Amino acid sequence: MSTHHLTLGVLNGDDIGHEIVPAAVELAQAAAESSGLLIDWRPMPIGRKALDEHGSTLPDGTLDALSKLDGFILGPIGHREYPDVEGAINPHPILRKTFDLFANVRPTRSYPDIGCLYDDIDLVIVRENNEGFQPDRNVVAGSGEFRPTHDTTISVRVITREGSRKVAEAALKIARSRRRKLTIVHKNTVFKLGCGMFVEECYRAAEAFPDVEVDEAIVDTFAMHLIRHPQQYDVVVTTNMFGDILTDEAAGLVGGLGMAPGLCIGRGNLAMAQATHGSAPDIAGTGLANPYAMIESTRMLIEWLGQRHDIAPARDAAELMATGIRAALADPTTRTPDILGTGRHADMVAAIHRTIDRGAIDRGATGMT
Ligand code: ATP
Repeated sequence: MSTHHLTLGVLNGDDIGHEIVPAAVELAQAAAESSGLLIDWRPMPIGRKALDEHGSTLPDGTLDALSKLDGFILGPIGHREYPDVEGAINPHPILRKTFDLFANVRPTRSYPDIGCLYDDIDLVIVRENNEGFQPDRNVVAGSGEFRPTHDTTISVRVITREGSRKVAEAALKIARSRRRKLTIVHKNTVFKLGCGMFVEECYRAAEAFPDVEVDEAIVDTFAMHLIRHPQQYDVVVTTNMFGDILTDEAAGLVGGLGMAPGLCIGRGNLAMAQATHGSAPDIAGTGLANPYAMIESTRMLIEWLGQRHDIAPARDAAELMATGIRAALADPTTRTPDILGTGRHADMVAAIHRTIDRGAIDRGATGMT
């Protein structure tokens, strides 16, 4: 990879994905142009549109094409609405597994006046992504959920030492770049073996990070403290299902699902930007989808790649996007109704774009390009 160049896949997903992903690409492109970063965008079909046009929600060749990229943006997938036909699969677990994206990094941050329950929240939940209770990704064949009789269902949770260690290391690295505090969230009082192993491996990983303060919390108690005192947390690491639930709870603290971005990372060089929310079919096409989560996820991807490969223009582009986002969120006319605005999706995107362009002019004036 040349130092000023990134190749990124664009997979719109379903429903509001067709609105928020193009918005994220538009703004990343504007910030990249202003920062001297070249992004080669590679759109690829996925989801319902891909099923209709190519007979599969994850067409042949997609994984191979993605493996050659620096990263990609995955829009929300509305798999629950897919027809019951061959080829209509949920691509999420396949993508996360294929590229070993075992850590789902989900920040929660307050912005002024948008309906946050507190104005000083700044935490990151790192959710294990490929094991746990999720029956579509915790086994290599079949399903981690089965029904031996008509009246009995068994759901299996998978916890491995390696999976636990890997996600703990990812969370510790993030903690080291922030306030150096990690909270392990679990329920080892009941899941003595599963959560017990997860906690053991987190502490083992922490031995290599003596500069990070580590504590732990039982998941139910944590869920309560997260509402009452979210300021006490910096980085939180937890298993898949607990993380799924807690990140939605955390989003509720700062304005709802439209404010919940995410980046899926592994040990490799490829990462996937993926907002926490679903495809929101109820608001698709209304112009009311909040694009923040998808734009911020894309910004996180560019920032992560900039840090990982030491590409200064990528870090600059990410910073410019952050400035644009803050400006749009600060004005009620340029934010969507879910975060106490009177604007629409397009107003928010246009406002971020304007600030990015203005930021580029300012940088030019100060010779900072
Ligand atoms: P999934 O299980 O796939 O994550 P879900 O069942 O949680 O999906 P979502 O599609 O995330 O459902 O939608 C939940 C609610 O949040 C809906 O009312 C939806 O309109 C709202 N919502 C989700 N994303 C956004 C967004 N970006 N902007 C505004 N509202 C949103």
